[in-house]
Amino acid sequence: MASPVLPNTLVAARAALDKQEVSAADLVEEALTTIAQWEPTLHAFLEVFAGHARTAATASDKQRAQGTVLGPLHGVPVAIKDLICTTEGHTTAASKILQNFMAPYDATVITHLKKAGAILIGKTNLDEFAMGSSTEYSAYGPTHNPWQPARVAGGSSGGSAAAVASGSVLAALGTDTGGSIRQPASFCGVVGLKPTYGRVSRFGVIAYGSSLDQVGPFTRTVQDAAIMLSVLAGHDSQDATSSPLPVPAYETFCHGSLKGIKVGVPQEFFAEGVSPEVTTVVKAAIAALADQGATIINLSLPLTPAAIAVYYLIAKAEASTNLARFDALRYAPVSLSSHSLVEHYLEVRGQGFGAEVKRAILMGSYALSAGYYEAWYQQASRVRMLIRREYEEAFKEVDVVVGPVAPETAFTLGSKVDDPLAMYLSDALTVPLSVAGLPALSVPCGFASSLPVGLQIAAPHFKEERLFHVASVYEQAHNWWQQPRL
Ligand code: GLN
Repeated sequence: MASPVLPNTLVAARAALDKQEVSAADLVEEALTTIAQWEPTLHAFLEVFAGHARTAATASDKQRAQGTVLGPLHGVPVAIKDLICTTEGHTTAASKILQNFMAPYDATVITHLKKAGAILIGKTNLDEFAMGSSTEYSAYGPTHNPWQPARVAGGSSGGSAAAVASGSVLAALGTDTGGSIRQPASFCGVVGLKPTYGRVSRFGVIAYGSSLDQVGPFTRTVQDAAIMLSVLAGHDSQDATSSPLPVPAYETFCHGSLKGIKVGVPQEFFAEGVSPEVTTVVKAAIAALADQGATIINLSLPLTPAAIAVYYLIAKAEASTNLARFDALRYAPVSLSSHSLVEHYLEVRGQGFGAEVKRAILMGSYALSAGYYEAWYQQASRVRMLIRREYEEAFKEVDVVVGPVAPETAFTLGSKVDDPLAMYLSDALTVPLSVAGLPALSVPCGFASSLPVGLQIAAPHFKEERLFHVASVYEQAHNWWQQPRL
């Protein structure tokens, strides 16, 4: 639906803005029009900042006319997952409990985007508090898949994935705890990157699993993801887990050849449960990497099947403590009839949280409670270290590890929403990398029954440049991202 004269990548937008072929005002108007066209079908956005974006575009164009270009995103509209605090509009985490919350400060990633010249166009839909794999657990209704609207967009960052896939924006931010960027990117046919744990600041990002959460970009192309990571990454004194390692110029790695690159293919990534059509598409992509000069090395990561239990124990345990802060004394959605503090908590948390969030509180509190902590949380933490070591060993032999992002393509809305275990299993291939803290990217690699399939590429800690290199060389030979939608 996007007008063909307007740029369809960040690289093209940057060039067109530099040459004054388009203005920030043009890009913002185009984004607002495209969002308005798609919203009745997709519900990708929870809030659109039309007024703010127009004002910011005017200011941005004025700066450019005076010779000031703030950075690589100067004048480019970007959408933000509504888990990330912005001084514009609300930050709801797609929860009723935060429906009136307006953040008093910007998350560090938002400050970075603004310093690079980006214009915030709106906040995107997600599973409540980022818990889920389909965006159906949003308290404000699900997001639909732009390729087939009867299907889910994936989750939890489904709104951001759908916003990029529909051409509404060229870039959006998501968060990934156990797959929430990679899986919706795969389902919607866009690029999604989960950086190494610690590569990007989490200050101002509403916490889910604090030892797992990372912010990352959705884009149409790999090079665009590299541009975004260079803007987002870096040390932040406000986030003790953020790394002081220097930020490479990631964009410079988006070319070259795959000669000499060793690509590891774990057999466990093609185990039972992975659909035959996804297997076929991903194996063809791996064969294509070999055709491009890479050496394919089959390996085994035997702990892969344990990752889902490890992940859900750790993530839910951490979530239960993170969610304790939501006492709804300030942003309560209900008019309170309770007389005591305990009654207030019961009423407000009972009504303000949805079913999946309550499951997290119950499971997590149980796993952390006296007498069970050893058996559950600590045991999961031990297996987590073993999984991490398994990858460290593998990366002594190979440069990257590849496989499917998800066991299947976008599923039908409603098909898993009442079956938490089926929903959790859709993360089986993303959570191993999450618990190991590794960077991983989803790049479109074909279609199965007219739905996009993503190839997952993972690298050692803080080696995102390898992901950009391998994925962009692959992408340049295939261009799946240019397939027309709907
Ligand atoms: N579906 C997973 C969960 O609910 C992952 C979500 C995420 O990465 N935020 O925990």
